[in-house]
Amino acid sequence: MIDSTPLTAAQAIDLLLAGNQRFVAGTPEHPNQDAMRRAATAPGQRPFAVLFGCSDSRLAAEIIFDQGLGDLFVVRTAGHVTGAEVLGSIEYAVSVLDCPLVVVLGHDSCGAVAATRTALADGITPTGYIRDVIERVTPSVLAARAGGLTGDDDIIVTHIRHTVDLLLNRSRVLADQVTDGRTAVVGLFYQLADGSARIVTAHGLAPEPRVAVAVVSCRGLRGGSALVGCSSGISARLAGFTPTSSSAMRADLARAWAGNLSSAAGSTPSARSVISATICNRASAV
Ligand SMILES: [Zn+2]
Repeated sequence: MIDSTPLTAAQAIDLLLAGNQRFVAGTPEHPNQDAMRRAATAPGQRPFAVLFGCSDSRLAAEIIFDQGLGDLFVVRTAGHVTGAEVLGSIEYAVSVLDCPLVVVLGHDSCGAVAATRTALADGITPTGYIRDVIERVTPSVLAARAGGLTGDDDIIVTHIRHTVDLLLNRSRVLADQVTDGRTAVVGLFYQLADGSARIVTAHGLAPEPRVAVAVVSCRGLRGGSALVGCSSGISARLAGFTPTSSSAMRADLARAWAGNLSSAAGSTPSARSVISATICNRASAV
């Protein structure tokens, strides 16, 4: 029987991203893929993450995250579109198997998103059940367009975020798990060429960083500094940047924050990703 010690959501995402970093670096360990693991997992499974991703053949879950048997509960559809079977599978994994983490995995050059953009541009919807996929990606593409986003990656990231929101809106079971702190739902954007996956949205992964005060106070600064803290206990003084515009301030803030966090004791790769992303989002709203 496999080790049944449960992981937290933060531990689970760190484990997943560590595997991805090994894959990117070309130093995979291929863990849990031998006969001993096969025998150990035969009586029962306890995967540490649900991987709900696009069906694209280049997103083979256990390979790109360097995991093995019994590690990931995998659900994949073209364009990671959802339906009753997808939601039921995810609910089973989090409520019966006690998975602490649900990941939505999208990627650049996604054919489902590209086909949807083409269908909207040409006004021609594909026939057969491909139409169902297109129709389920369409709201994301329209939302990105309404938000002024035109780049391929920006639209795909919007679709990943929408998929995460959709899972939480449609599944009461999943939403309750997140509210209770038992499960986190994280959106990852995967890049085909270099094999890297980065967090683009997260629910329930960590307490919301308290950065709003710092961002607001930056408005009046001229080459000054600001103390930024977050609820996970990491704080840093950001000094020496001159916010001449919203975009310049955003870049300075992200750069300074990333530099401070890289040496912050106790911070994890996932915490750094989440906090950096949150600061960028908040700063852009100022
Ligand atoms: Zn795809």
